[in-house]
Amino acid sequence: MSNFASSMHDRDVRYFLHAYTHLRRHEERGPTIIARGEGVHVYDDAGKRYIEGLAGMWCAALGFGEERLVEAAAAAMRRLGYYHNFNHMNHEPGIELAERLIDLAPVPMSKVFFTNSGSEANDTQVKLIWYYNNALGRPEKKKIIARRRAYHGVTVAAASLTGIEQNHRDFDLPIAGILHTDCPSHFHGAEPGESEEAFASRLADNLERLILDEGPETVAALFAEPVIGGGGVFTPPATYFEKIQAVLAKYDVLLVADEVICGFGRTGNWFGCETVGARPDSMSMAKNLSAGYQPIAALAISEPIYQGLLAESDRVGGFAHGFTYGGHPVCCAVALEALRIYEEIDLVGHVRKVAPRFQAGFRRLADHPLVGDARGVGLIAAIELARDKRTRALFDPADGVGAFFARRAEENGLILRCVAGTDIIALAPPLVISEAEIDEMHAILAKTLEETEAMAVQKGLARLG
Ligand code: PLP
Repeated sequence: MSNFASSMHDRDVRYFLHAYTHLRRHEERGPTIIARGEGVHVYDDAGKRYIEGLAGMWCAALGFGEERLVEAAAAAMRRLGYYHNFNHMNHEPGIELAERLIDLAPVPMSKVFFTNSGSEANDTQVKLIWYYNNALGRPEKKKIIARRRAYHGVTVAAASLTGIEQNHRDFDLPIAGILHTDCPSHFHGAEPGESEEAFASRLADNLERLILDEGPETVAALFAEPVIGGGGVFTPPATYFEKIQAVLAKYDVLLVADEVICGFGRTGNWFGCETVGARPDSMSMAKNLSAGYQPIAALAISEPIYQGLLAESDRVGGFAHGFTYGGHPVCCAVALEALRIYEEIDLVGHVRKVAPRFQAGFRRLADHPLVGDARGVGLIAAIELARDKRTRALFDPADGVGAFFARRAEENGLILRCVAGTDIIALAPPLVISEAEIDEMHAILAKTLEETEAMAVQKGLARLG
């Protein structure tokens, strides 16, 4: 390592507080510093090349080094380096992007509001739902339901919605009024022999029971990712959304679709809602919205919700919500250019074309003795490592089998995610990935699986065969 590189590593440990990192271990291990990217690859500061198997943070749809986005940012910054949309002000890229998102939305939507992150979009959703129910004169209808293992972000309301214990513990969350219902994971939740349809019916019954126990007059909305991403890649069982939406409609409970990962092609449609048959009242979007090149997120709301906001804003004298950088003109211009590229190269068509090869590789891995489950749709997938495939017995997370897998994969040239506190290995590569690159990725996964099996056998962790 050069002096420059080693001093960078030292300075990282000295000054930088990392996101989602074991802080003590980081002091010993130091950072992996990514120096540049090109296509689906990134290169670290020692020149080692990796396939970015998670598209950075599930967001670099076009991979790295897309010059058109660089040019779009530079041109927008030259024209108007900053402006906001408070107090009636606006700019062209913001208006154009809002119109484009309304055109793209899978169900009729009325208005778009911009934030800087998916978490802020979800926090905003919560506030708008409260405001809306105040407008309708039902101040008690405020509780929000999310699902266990859902991931909705880390700000106070979004982290409360997130159904993962590590996001709550010692952060003094969740806040009051947030409830959690079942994770729609057939692998984890189904009874032996229970079909996907029967499992979906049972979850819908459980949701109805929760709403009735709480009192339908107190329940405002359900948040759902079409496919749960960060919590472990859980595709819903067949008929799930159809059944839970019937329950929501019965008790006048809104459906908020968190499209932060699924939106803009990930599942083989523009939106995950189309893939799973959901008809939301509002949607949160981020990540692939700008191919990750600029921080921008958005929410789209239905006309009835907008009418509620309008009435309440009349009543209280204005809509007092907004972010300094929300709908930043440079971010909007980059997002518009990303959406133009998606259309020009038919990105959704490309995902549909290569997804069968991507998913088939995971189905093959499912036969491996260390793999309890393989699941996914489009260009998102996961394998879940298990101690005993037959009984679905998992490893003790303290054994660190998944973390070992992720470390080995990185050494083998593939960046992926071991979902914290689990042995779930998640992949969501740039959507432009080619079939040859998919094959290369699967070869690394297979090799890493062999190495992980050898480690598990050597340590007596796995009951294989
Ligand atoms: N919602 C979903 C489904 C996500 O996957 C994420 C982030 O991974 C978020 C919300 C939070 O987005 P952000 O990290 O931009 O705040």
